[in-house]
Amino acid sequence: MKEKVCVHMTNSVSDFVFPPALPVTVPVRDSALRYAVRRIFCVGRNYAAHAREMGSDPDREAPFYFAKTPAHLVQSGATVAYAPGTQNLHHEVELVIALGQPVFRATPEQAQGSVWGYACGLDMTRRDLQITARDAGRPWTLGKDFEHAAVVGALLPASRVARPGQGAITLRVNGQLRQQGDLSSMIWRVPEIVANLSGHYHLQPGDLIYTGTPEGVGPVRPGDRLEGSIEGVGEVVLHIGAAE
Ligand code: MN
Repeated sequence: MKEKVCVHMTNSVSDFVFPPALPVTVPVRDSALRYAVRRIFCVGRNYAAHAREMGSDPDREAPFYFAKTPAHLVQSGATVAYAPGTQNLHHEVELVIALGQPVFRATPEQAQGSVWGYACGLDMTRRDLQITARDAGRPWTLGKDFEHAAVVGALLPASRVARPGQGAITLRVNGQLRQQGDLSSMIWRVPEIVANLSGHYHLQPGDLIYTGTPEGVGPVRPGDRLEGSIEGVGEVVLHIGAAE
């Protein structure tokens, strides 16, 4: 019998130490199909006014990235506990890119063709832990990559987006407008982000990219209802429950 050397060749539950989790998936608008998530990349400071509110000078330096674990993804409409270990849980509403083609060392034109669709998402952030790490020159893991820290609404296929790269992006908390911007204010545009990231990774279908947030980030509290919206793309909703 041939020895199994690759986990991808395993196909029986009895081959596993414990039952493996089902794939993490995102619904597709007006479809029964689901989009299986592979990796989650995030762009930092991609709107000038948000860069300034975080104490940075916006410029055209190369974009920088952090990542979130796919198991930390939650779907729109969920209620999640106020995250542990923080006194300052923040909302960041963002355009999410969903890739549908492999892409490596792409030009912006090639990169655009690899985009399968878009969604409205939330990059939830333990701001106190992120700032502490940032100021110490340490990784942002505790501030950015925690359970339920990536929220995403239904995907809209790119072919149905009438004005790619444009449209109002807003976040309301309990009906009050907190964040308001426009996709056209992104420092790095969608094709540029995908092209740049494709110089560092062999990007694949299933890879999501959170593209940064406009100004107006702020704290949430138990009981809050967050509603993100991107004109022409979609919505995302998150309810903040009590701390555990
Ligand atoms: Mn963000």
